[in-house]
Formats: sequence, C-alpha cells, structure tokens
Amino acid sequence: MNDISARYAFAVVGFDREAVVSDLCDMVSIRSENPFDGPPRPGYRENELGEFLLARLTDLNFEVGSREVAPGRPNVWGRLEARSKGPSLMLAGHMDTVGTGSYDNPFAPRVEHGRVYGHGSCDMKAGLAAYLEVARLLAKSGIQLGGDLLIAGTADEEWRLAGSRDMGRKGPGADFGIIGESEPLTEVAPLDVPVESPLAQATVRAFEAVVGEPAIVRAHAAATDAPNPGFPTIIFRPGSLEQAHSLCEFVEMNEIEIAAKTYLRVAMELLGRVTW
Ligand SMILES: [Zn+2]
Repeated sequence: MNDISARYAFAVVGFDREAVVSDLCDMVSIRSENPFDGPPRPGYRENELGEFLLARLTDLNFEVGSREVAPGRPNVWGRLEARSKGPSLMLAGHMDTVGTGSYDNPFAPRVEHGRVYGHGSCDMKAGLAAYLEVARLLAKSGIQLGGDLLIAGTADEEWRLAGSRDMGRKGPGADFGIIGESEPLTEVAPLDVPVESPLAQATVRAFEAVVGEPAIVRAHAAATDAPNPGFPTIIFRPGSLEQAHSLCEFVEMNEIEIAAKTYLRVAMELLGRVTW
C-alpha cells in the first residue's frame, strides 16, 4: 500500500451514511426550483440551499464566501485552506432544480430500499451531499491535503448557467474541477478536458481503486456547468442521467458512497502532499 492508499483507507472508515442521508433529505426539502426569468420567491430557494451549504461548510472549517449572480440568487463556496500550496480542486454542483411536473410530495424526501427519493435528489443534491461527506471525512481523519479543496454550489444551471458563468469571470477558481452531475456511475466525462489529463486519469484511477472495476471515459450527453468555470473540469457522479428531470427521481445511496470516496481519493492524489 502506498502512502495515499493507507491514509485513504483510514479516512473512509469514517464514512457516515446516516449523515449523508440526513443532508440529502434536508436539501431535497429545501425547494430550489430554477425561477427562470422570474425573481426568487417561495419555492425557488437557491438562496436558502446556499445558506444550508455555507452553514455546513463553516462547521467543517471551510472559509466561506458567496456572491449573487442575480438578485437573491447566489453562488456559494467554501475553501479548506492547505498549509502547503499544491494545486487546488473544486467540487462544484448546481443548487437549482427543474420544475416538478405533477408527482406527489416531491419535496418530502423518502428513504426506501437503499434509495433516497425526492425532487432534485439525483440532479444534483446527491452530488452536494457527497461533497459534504468528503469534507467530514477530512475533518474526522485529520488528514491535511497538499492544496486547497473548494466546495461550491452554483445558481441557475438549469436555465442560463448564470452561476457557473459568473464563477468563470469572477472566481473562485481552482486548478481542477469536478462536477457531480448525473451520470452513469462507471463513467467519467471529461468534456473539453483530454482523457490523458491528470484530472481525468486521477478520477479513473480513484474510481477503480474504490470500486474495483474499470471506469469508462466518454463525453457527457447534456448541458452542464462544466465548460464555464474557466479551469479543467470533468463530470463524475453516480446516478443516471435518466433520473435527472424524471417525475419520480431517486438516487442510490451506494452510488453516493462511491462518489464521495472517489472524490476524496482524487483530492488526495491530485493535491499532492498529504499529512495527518
Ligand atoms: Zn444537473
């Protein structure tokens, strides 16, 4: 076992499924539909979801910030500052969801058969819940990364991508980015990032180490924030694209666990020196 494998193994023992489910259910119940051209109003609460993320990240020792990209519609982020100045990684995800259509109780999350059901559970609050678990695993294990880890929530992915565009112009930036957007679990989608790039390769290696199966690298088939932040960004997350925008959306808990563990391992590998 090399250095990272031993420390990674130590850290992931602390994976806390209950905390992940609890965060995800909290986020599903914060209704954050994209208001499109309308103002934010009841039912369109990206802002409240942002506040939830900021509170969690503050508790986990991140330095937090936010900036409105439209009135009442912020991007939010937290930075876990490293003592050394290795490369930085941002785990980013959109906070808005599409509209709900007509299914029952979309904002009353349900946990059943290893799945979390609810509007936005898959697209993409599960990704945000996985990021928070990465932050918790780092805090619990005492592992210090060799470069900064950022966790960010963007506004308006489902309409004009105003959040990620704003981030591309005004920051924060990073050397590498991952967006936990709905994707078949075994696939790493590098978009405009070469398959041979350190980011794509680290993600493939991390996934294979976590799951013990090969990852598939392919282009992503839907619009996302990924090209906009202004730094190399890939899509990697559990949950199928069919679930996103579906009328009975769910995410498999196992997939969130694999994603969180993969993100952690990618961070440990890409950001360089890791100390306890
Ligand atoms: Zn999405």
